[in-house]
Amino acid sequence: LRAIAEAGPDAEEQVMSAQKDTVRRVLSQIEAAVARVQDGTYGVCLTCAKPIPVERLEILPYTPSCVPCQRSAG
Ligand SMILES: [Zn+2]
Repeated sequence: LRAIAEAGPDAEEQVMSAQKDTVRRVLSQIEAAVARVQDGTYGVCLTCAKPIPVERLEILPYTPSCVPCQRSAG
């Protein structure tokens, strides 16, 4: 965020770049989720191996981890 604030005329370009990174990250998470559906491990947290609550999967169907693990990962 500080980089965007100090960037001046290039700020918009940097925001777009950040958005593209986000798209790539989400896309890779979706691809990984599809792979987990195929191998039968979908819905299980990759970090703690516990089931991810259905309510969370309804909001973020491609999430690789439960809320506590995502928080501890930063
Ligand atoms: Zn977890």
